[in-house]
Amino acid sequence: MAKIGVLIETSDEGVKEANGGVITAARGEAGNEIYAFVLNAKAADCRNALQQYGVAKVVEVSADAAAWVSSPDLQARALAEAIKHFEISTLLGLSSAQGRDLLARLAALIDAPLVQDCSGINLAEGTVKKSHFSGKTFATIKLNGNLRICSIRPNTIEAQPAPVEAEVLTFQAAVQDPGGLVVKEVKKTAPGSVELTEANIIITGGRPIGAAENYKILRECAEVLGAAVGASRAVVDAGFAPHSMQVGQTGKTVSPKLYIACGLSGSVQHFAGMKTSRVIVAINTDKDAPIFNKCDYGLVGDLFEIVPVLTAVLKEQPQ
Ligand SMILES: Cc1cc2nc3c(=O)[nH]c(=O)nc-3n(C[C@H](O)[C@H](O)[C@H](O)COP(=O)(O)OP(=O)(O)OC[C@H]3O[C@@H](n4cnc5c(N)ncnc54)[C@H](O)[C@@H]3O)c2cc1C
Repeated sequence: MAKIGVLIETSDEGVKEANGGVITAARGEAGNEIYAFVLNAKAADCRNALQQYGVAKVVEVSADAAAWVSSPDLQARALAEAIKHFEISTLLGLSSAQGRDLLARLAALIDAPLVQDCSGINLAEGTVKKSHFSGKTFATIKLNGNLRICSIRPNTIEAQPAPVEAEVLTFQAAVQDPGGLVVKEVKKTAPGSVELTEANIIITGGRPIGAAENYKILRECAEVLGAAVGASRAVVDAGFAPHSMQVGQTGKTVSPKLYIACGLSGSVQHFAGMKTSRVIVAINTDKDAPIFNKCDYGLVGDLFEIVPVLTAVLKEQPQ
């Protein structure tokens, strides 16, 4: 049984749901011993959310340094000490903005092999699966070395509960303020809105949205579904949505459980960013639109008629 570390991400609401898939991957077939490393929250507050997936130890990592919250370099150094102390053989995290940044710093610091944005992992063989060429091919990559680091694309591995009683530990790293990069400000998306790359459900608007204010109908539906709202590049180029909402080859890569594409033709560049969605629903006025060959469910019709009806029906459903 190997000791596998998981870098846990938290938000104002607590432990991010997407951690569940990463912990499930860390358990592997062998039922490995999982150490969850919490850097910016109280380990005791995270215990319940983490132990349901089989985390044996929840470790609160900190350092007696003023720059702790604003220095990713300092956090990487503290994490390096923690994984050495607990004799971790593989460290996994989320392929999010925070995960990609911190894991890369850590890998450089301790000279460990790193693969980012994996969609599968075999811990026994030390291999990971990663998509290339906009999802046209998948590479199986073998990581050598005593310590391996991988980030996993949110939602690509289904979270499966395996409840245990977790122990809460603290680890105080003996690291100093390293200087260098300091995070001055983190600009969050609107309160209550769901981050695209971590969303379980996404509803996306394409070119026929026609104006920024028309996104209102998608936002109303998203609110009922607990979904994030996305955009095609056509919409972003027209100035109706910010680039942070763009899904696709030159936008964000997403992997939700449900992707609702409203008024999208189904371009290869858009699909490159969402083809791993578990269920794709398309709404399009043109019955011959290419997207109907790529979706699980298709509705031929006007998004301005269908989406408000969908929202109204969903509102009537018991929660
Ligand atoms: C290098 C490169 C990178 C790119 N990167 C990206 C990327 O990251 N993301 C991305 O999205 N695109 C990207 N593109 C652009 C891409 O090729 C397409 O142009 C774009 O995805 C089309 O967006 P769309 O589906 O919203 O619009 P369109 O292709 O114009 O499709 C609109 C669809 O809406 C339907 N429709 C019209 N009215 C309605 C209505 N009222 N209700 C329902 N359906 C309706 C139409 O039948 C049509 O099928 C890239 C292109 C290149 C060359």
